Amino acid sequence: MSTARCPTCKATLLPLALATTAPFCSQRCKLADLGSWLDGRYAIADTTTGPEELEALLEASLTERAGQHAGKTRGRSRS
Ligand SMILES: [Zn+2]
Repeated sequence: MSTARCPTCKATLLPLALATTAPFCSQRCKLADLGSWLDGRYAIADTTTGPEELEALLEASLTERAGQHAGKTRGRSRS
């Protein structure tokens, strides 16, 4: 039986973590890894994209998602 370890902090994963935040030990490590991964990906894909543009892109996608959610809620409250 192999022991799973968190890629971010190298801590041994508990069964609970394996079921919820695997392959990371916690939500915090998961987000930290995702953040650095996005950083590298955007840097490689387009070197002209600065942190401000990346932030605008993230905000735009979040706003879009929030708008869709609001519309859905409004439609459901009709009945
Ligand atoms: Zn961790």
